[in-house]
Amino acid sequence: MGGLATAARLVAKGAKVVVLEKYLLPGGSAAHFKRDGYTFDVGSSMMFGMGHEGTTNLITKCLETVGRKMETVPDPTQVVYHLPKSDRFPKGLHVSVWRKYEEFLDELAQRFPAEREGIKKFYDECWKIFNSLNVLDLKSLEEPRYLLGEFAKQPLACLTLASFLTTNTGDVARKHIKDPELLRFIDIECFIWSTVSADLTPMINAGMVFCDRHFGGINYPVGGVGRIGEELAEGIVEYGGHVVYKANVKEIIVEGPLDGERRAVGVRLADGRVFRGKTVISNATRWDTFENLIGPDKLPESEKLFRKRFKKSPSFFSLHMGVKAEVLRGETDCHHILLEDWGKMEAARGVLFVSIPTVLDPSLAPPGHHIVHAFTPDWIDNWKDLSPAEYVSAKEQLADQICERLEAIFPGLRAATTFRDAGTPRTHRRYLNREDGTYGPIPSRRPLGMLSMPFNTTDIRGLYCVGDSAFPGQGVNAVVFSGFGCAHRVLADLGMEPTWPLLDSAFGKLLSTVRNAS
Ligand SMILES: Cc1cc2nc3c(=O)[nH]c(=O)nc-3n(C[C@H](O)[C@H](O)[C@H](O)COP(=O)(O)OP(=O)(O)OC[C@H]3O[C@@H](n4cnc5c(N)ncnc54)[C@H](O)[C@@H]3O)c2cc1C
Repeated sequence: MGGLATAARLVAKGAKVVVLEKYLLPGGSAAHFKRDGYTFDVGSSMMFGMGHEGTTNLITKCLETVGRKMETVPDPTQVVYHLPKSDRFPKGLHVSVWRKYEEFLDELAQRFPAEREGIKKFYDECWKIFNSLNVLDLKSLEEPRYLLGEFAKQPLACLTLASFLTTNTGDVARKHIKDPELLRFIDIECFIWSTVSADLTPMINAGMVFCDRHFGGINYPVGGVGRIGEELAEGIVEYGGHVVYKANVKEIIVEGPLDGERRAVGVRLADGRVFRGKTVISNATRWDTFENLIGPDKLPESEKLFRKRFKKSPSFFSLHMGVKAEVLRGETDCHHILLEDWGKMEAARGVLFVSIPTVLDPSLAPPGHHIVHAFTPDWIDNWKDLSPAEYVSAKEQLADQICERLEAIFPGLRAATTFRDAGTPRTHRRYLNREDGTYGPIPSRRPLGMLSMPFNTTDIRGLYCVGDSAFPGQGVNAVVFSGFGCAHRVLADLGMEPTWPLLDSAFGKLLSTVRNAS
């Protein structure tokens, strides 16, 4: 999706663009696939950034860039949490994150009455960030002319964001909240999209996620999430770009000495075809881009640093199910989170994510049926060295365990299941072409807020990275943001966006010095 967003922004500005996609369809982790009359989202179903106001609705804006508009259905809740039992919550802690901010705050405060004030203060801090972001024209943070322009237009917003640049969410949460169980809740609020606790989640990212959901940003695209990528790809072609499927890039062609200036000049596909261009943009993960497409012996210094600061998050085990609709009668919430033991929040197979997109768009399933997509973090190592029979049986076993757990929130689900298809981290690796099937980079130690995350440029001239391995990280709206930044920086480097070259190069050096030292 990051690559499509970049391509959309580039073609709209008149650049000549070729998108090379290994798979048969666009969208990667945000694509869909069809089986037995069902349209299943590969991964994402919770679509932030699909609102109609402000500037953070980047998916909507990206579609508009290439003349596209999608019909959407508003999610009544972002998610419903079903969290562990405790003395205080003998039946478990259940919280709905309502679309209306006040309703959510009130529900959470009812669970933690002594923390009513702290809850409001914490989430209100998030709004400071969101309101600041939501007036800026979001582009490349690596382009000083644009940054100064935004500063001149919105000095307060820029200063507010700068004040949170190095802050992590856990620090802000602890400033306002003392109850350990509520702090765990804030942890899982972060974990469900960053896959790390609040202490490792940059506050700026939290500000975006915790407010867009109440600002009207979460809306489900009719026809399924995969339609977003398809619409973008069609728009790119309409604007004169090319999208080539079954184009498996095996090598990024880099010229120049290892100890001198190196430049990316094109790519070579598995079938031998070579595409040359002024710019190469990789939407593969940083591990795939540098180790697999360039070579592990040719790692630039900044990439070595990245590997020290970030590690691969686990992949997912995904269970796509078709169920008889009557078992979910009255259900209106698309997303649920189930965790039975706080100690397992960050463990493989701990948190269970559930999406039921058919409560928003029934056309995705045959009449009288719903889709239930349940997925849980899992490591590829759990699926190595298995014979084909062992692999199938391990999949069945884990799928059964997940169905058993789901009975707690949807009694009768197992008996009502008419279709079941499971994907393991190996499936994610194979079909998404992501090393170890990883969901993306996570910090290996406390990050310096969002300053630690790499942006789009790399140490190799003409080579840019986009997607969840670049700022601001995982999530569809986030990778579209990285696409906006990438396209802007590329256009500036190609002379198609105005820049101040001297300031540009000085700022680039300063930025990498600060980031390398941070
Ligand atoms: C199970 C799951 C659930 C999720 N749920 C949500 C959610 O509810 N909401 C949300 O916002 N986000 C969610 N996400 C995260 C979100 O989907 C991703 O962060 C985002 O889509 C990643 O986009 P990307 O552009 O970085 O990369 P990818 O989606 O990995 O896309 C990269 C593309 O590049 C192609 N490619 C890679 N290598 C090559 C090569 N060598 N040659 C040619 N093509 C290549 C791939 O085929 C793919 O199409 C979820 C992810 C998963 C896995």
